[in-house]
Amino acid sequence: MAVAVERPANDELRNLSLSGHVGFDSLPDQLVNKSTSQGFCFNILCVGETGIGKSTLMDTLFNTKFESDPATHNEPGVRLKARSYELQESNVRLKLTIVDTVGFGDQINKDDSYKPIVEYIDTQFEAYLQEELKIKRSLFNYHDTRIHACLYFIAPTGHSLKSLDLVTMKKLDSKVNIIPIIAKADTIAKNELHKFKSKIMSELVSNGVQIYQFPTDEETVAEINATMSVHLPFAVVGSTEEVKIGNKMSKARQYPWGVVQVENENHCDFVKLREMLIRVNMEDLREQTHTRHYELYRRCKLEEMGFKDTDPDSKPFSLQETYEAKRNEFLGELQKKEEEMRQMFVMRVKEKEAELKEAEKDLHEKFDHLKRTHQEEKKKVDDKKKELEEELSNFQKKKAAAQLLQSQAQQAGSQQTKKDKDKKNKEQATAGGELV
Ligand code: GDP
Repeated sequence: MAVAVERPANDELRNLSLSGHVGFDSLPDQLVNKSTSQGFCFNILCVGETGIGKSTLMDTLFNTKFESDPATHNEPGVRLKARSYELQESNVRLKLTIVDTVGFGDQINKDDSYKPIVEYIDTQFEAYLQEELKIKRSLFNYHDTRIHACLYFIAPTGHSLKSLDLVTMKKLDSKVNIIPIIAKADTIAKNELHKFKSKIMSELVSNGVQIYQFPTDEETVAEINATMSVHLPFAVVGSTEEVKIGNKMSKARQYPWGVVQVENENHCDFVKLREMLIRVNMEDLREQTHTRHYELYRRCKLEEMGFKDTDPDSKPFSLQETYEAKRNEFLGELQKKEEEMRQMFVMRVKEKEAELKEAEKDLHEKFDHLKRTHQEEKKKVDDKKKELEEELSNFQKKKAAAQLLQSQAQQAGSQQTKKDKDKKNKEQATAGGELV
């Protein structure tokens, strides 16, 4: 049962003073302790050509050696490779994921290079949304893989941004916090660098590319963030090599003509990047990802699915009502589809029936034709048979007559022979008597 809470007409909050210690001033500490025990997670996406110094910069930033195998320049397309690590500094645990864009800028046709990156970012948002929409969700220990910061590595050409850079940043700017950096800044002269930086910034503005704005609304960080924004894009140098400078070892790159110190602010902006990315704004980057970029993804996705906050008359629309409306719409469509399918089925059956009837008629016609041909053939064979039988009987008759004649002739022949014999015997007997 709903309970109506009555509020005073004057909706203002009254300030009351406490006459003793209550204890809710420990709330921030409670929050810190809870977060510390839970650990944090931070995900960085490095976008830049192969060999521009992405892996080296990550190693330099986190003072460690992450596993990475140098990519070749003959990848057929861009693919994203994510690797997660568990880091600890004092009592703070950080689950860090570094995502590399393998093969970026290596293809002749770079039209689709941004697509795998956009897809990757969306896939992480989608996974989070799916977890959020579950009835039994566990966001508390969910491994959040949404990208919190995108370091965009610009080649130190000294000229301007490449069209690939502009297209990619434009496609990503509503999905992720972009921090542009000029890579390998030790290869560009100081006076050129200044011009190069302003050229890049004006190109970003004229192309409407939104990069991450360091927050200036919070007092403690407003000043440093405002100062640092002026130095964008940061010109960085990466190195994991330790060189002895004075009596101290520091990260540097050694050349025949001198040493570039990574952490020397006169040499490059590495320290500024580390301050902005890790030491000052890491939490803001996480928050912006959730409240701005993820929120936008979620809103578009839910709207795409048909969810709205208000009905056509701009009246608030509850999730339940939207669900019911969507369900009814779906059921209506289902019924329509069912009816269409039924009609189609009836039509198909009729068509098949007509086809079968036609085939039956053909078969009958063929059968009749065959029957007629067979009868004609049979008659011909019968006639022939009769003819042959007649011929045979004539032949038999002739044969019998011939045999009769032959036997008569033989009989006549044998009687003559006997007569001749008798005659001869008589003659011989007569001759014998005369002699005696
Ligand atoms: P990835 O392919 O973008 O990850 O590039 P790698 O970090 O593997 O670096 C490629 C090459 O560039 C290696 O030989 C690095 O030593 C070198 N490199 C990295 N960072 C810098 C830099 O700031 N300046 C210069 N001159 N070379 C760098």
